[in-house]
Amino acid sequence: MNFLSRYCLATPLRTLSKGFRFGRLPKAGFRILLFHHIPAESFFDFEKLVSYVVSSHGVMTPDEAASCLVGDMVQNRRFENSNAPCLLSFDDGFHSNLEIANTILRRYGVKALFFVSPGLINLPSSEQPAAIAKNIFQARITASELNNDTRLLHWQELYELKRQGHVIGCHGLLHRRLSELTGSELEREVVFAGNLLDRELQQKTDWYAYAFGDIDSIHSEALQLISRRYRYCRSGLRGINNFKTLRSAIFADSLAPEAPLNYQKLLIEGGLDFLYLARRRALNKMSISV
Ligand SMILES: [Zn+2]
Repeated sequence: MNFLSRYCLATPLRTLSKGFRFGRLPKAGFRILLFHHIPAESFFDFEKLVSYVVSSHGVMTPDEAASCLVGDMVQNRRFENSNAPCLLSFDDGFHSNLEIANTILRRYGVKALFFVSPGLINLPSSEQPAAIAKNIFQARITASELNNDTRLLHWQELYELKRQGHVIGCHGLLHRRLSELTGSELEREVVFAGNLLDRELQQKTDWYAYAFGDIDSIHSEALQLISRRYRYCRSGLRGINNFKTLRSAIFADSLAPEAPLNYQKLLIEGGLDFLYLARRRALNKMSISV
């Protein structure tokens, strides 16, 4: 199904999805919404989406989501009667994320999770664009196409996000595909990255989101290392999370703010979860085997 046909089918799919899930909608759970770089021209659409999520679902803090994962529902009573609440997360640590935090997230009182790659942050500014183009965009764009909004946040700016109450998690040292790494290379990408974040941000880094987030970008050895080093590992596979969710196999819904709102609603309501069932099972199986 291409994007256009998905957009056109959003309304009938939402109706169908609601019909089939009567009584089965897992309300006692939450969804993680996953964003990347958001260009300035999409801020308006992003704010519309945040406004909808805040009013129709409610937004969790990272701490509230973590307590939900460990079965402590006491902290989450304020969401009891709502649709599945959402936690917002941003991958890659682009400068546009700070703009979003300073404006839209601040206006709506949203505290979010930001996943960054400390090895890329530490590169000299002359080397960073080429590394971003290669490691994050997989050479789909060139270094010369990057601008100030697509530069990475530096440590002081990440401190500022922390000061605002957001949580910084690890996205791998250099944003490498973990399924292509083993042994000491893998350890460096996963474990050394967390230690570096701890040291630079004077924190205990509990959250990890593996780069690219799909089922082909992870393997058991990587999940094993992540589980030893971090408390929570977020994937990019669509699905709802609750106390039954394995902490090394947390699901998230990637959203593009410029997509039609009706399509975003379909995703947030879990209308495309069925397409990811096999991949969620594969990730769970990989997590259980570690
Ligand atoms: Zn990423």
